[in-house]
Amino acid sequence: MAEQSGRCLCGAVRWRYDGPHLRNLICHCESCQRATSAPFTAFVGMDPAHLHWQGEVTHFESSPGNWRGFCPACGTRLYYRSRHWPDEVHVHAATLDDRDAYRPDAQVLCAERMGWPDHMHELPCHDGFGQPPAGSQR
Ligand SMILES: [Zn+2]
Ligand SMILES: [Zn+2]
Repeated sequence: MAEQSGRCLCGAVRWRYDGPHLRNLICHCESCQRATSAPFTAFVGMDPAHLHWQGEVTHFESSPGNWRGFCPACGTRLYYRSRHWPDEVHVHAATLDDRDAYRPDAQVLCAERMGWPDHMHELPCHDGFGQPPAGSQR
């Protein structure tokens, strides 16, 4: 498999991966919603033996046996680990350098799914802000 890479928002943390995708999914659980401040998140399950980190990563135990890694400088969520899957690190797909290459193949914990994203296709969609910020010339 071709090597993949990713980074946090500020660039203090980078990762490289040259192993297989063990899992590739969108998670709709409430814990992920709150942890990422987003209606859902997407993960690529990676073999820790092939996953190489650069920079400092801090983690938070979001429930017993579940850890969420993040960049201590900018707060970007980087991974989820669980005692239930000791041989996998679930890296947040949105941290990929090549974001457009990502294609999830499943959605999980759909019972906890937020409803409002279902209506996004009905909303106006602007390339910019749509309405300029106050005081802006844009
Ligand atoms: Zn960062
Ligand atoms: Zn989740």
